Amino acid sequence: MSEIDRIIESSSKGDDLSRADLAALLAVGDDGVCRQMYQAADELKRALWGTRVTYVVNLNLNWTNVCVQHCGFCNFRRSEHEADAYRMTLDQCLDHIARHLSYGITEVTIQGGLDLKTPVEFYYELVHETKRAFPHIHVHAFSPEEIAFLHERTGDSYAHIIERLRTAGLGSMPGTAAEILVDSVRQRLCNEKVMSDEWCEIVETAHRAGVRTTSTMMYGHIETMDERAEHLLRLQAVQRRTGGFTEFIQLPFVATRAPIAIRRGLQSPQTRETMNVTAAARLLFRDKLPHIQAVAWVKRGLDEAVQSLHCGADDIGGTLIEERISRSAGACHGSYVPAAELRARIRREGFTPVERTTLYNVIEHDASINEESSALFGINL
Ligand code: SF4
Repeated sequence: MSEIDRIIESSSKGDDLSRADLAALLAVGDDGVCRQMYQAADELKRALWGTRVTYVVNLNLNWTNVCVQHCGFCNFRRSEHEADAYRMTLDQCLDHIARHLSYGITEVTIQGGLDLKTPVEFYYELVHETKRAFPHIHVHAFSPEEIAFLHERTGDSYAHIIERLRTAGLGSMPGTAAEILVDSVRQRLCNEKVMSDEWCEIVETAHRAGVRTTSTMMYGHIETMDERAEHLLRLQAVQRRTGGFTEFIQLPFVATRAPIAIRRGLQSPQTRETMNVTAAARLLFRDKLPHIQAVAWVKRGLDEAVQSLHCGADDIGGTLIEERISRSAGACHGSYVPAAELRARIRREGFTPVERTTLYNVIEHDASINEESSALFGINL
């Protein structure tokens, strides 16, 4: 029995995978062995979800790009004096949402730069006013780093900040800013950010307050396979303690305009790496973190996203209207895919598209509406 056979068998029996096991899965390079691993992950996904592949109709709101930090992968941030620095007012944020309601959005994802001139109260007002103006919209807002930023500015505890936001209408939080949860990597990649323990503490505080989060991994830059594996095991440990992660989202590094890539000549990860991450995540998390998102189309394109649906992913993410952060780093796959196009691409791969809410409740569709929107985009559902 080969090493990969043994690891796949361990996963199928529900045994724990070690860091070395995971690193071995992530590093598979042989075509035949890759196919075997993808097939095992696909079978596991189908056992849990059948042919269903979910998506969410969401809008991004990145209200400012002014940021005091200088993460090595980020070309979204600006200093205040730069010509294209911007800050949106509360009214502009609400207008932005109102202008996109006709797309059928059910979620607004709110994240911004860490801007000392944005008053602390703005965060609470933005959530409160969004929920007041659009009660049916789920507010998915503020990374653990933004919670840490509010903590630094006020001295308020994480629990207090999260509870205030929850009371204001926060529905869930993006588990972004995780990057790679290994401090030696963070010190070289984003040394102004919270370190790994603090990231986990904030996320677990949110989970204990009833605020679920996503979990993410931004990979393919300076980390080793071992460190990538360690990151996945840290996410697994949090999930075992709280059960509060809704899904695992992989965010491949976009090298094109990332400062650290320019300085060090780094490339974006290869497709094989993104498929290996999809399959390894499914084989590790199994039904304990049951939703694995496809490779982010905004970073890698829809072709690669749908390819990962055959490697263990059961969700294709969002329509992501107006995404700015990946595009700033050089991703060139657009900022919006209509729901009808997502549905068509999912069907073309032999799966059944299902619209979901942020928290993975199914949204039932009126077939006539679907047909109407597909005709609008010239797509055969
Ligand atoms: S990733 Fe976020 S915190 Fe880091 S520089 Fe960019 S905007 Fe700032």
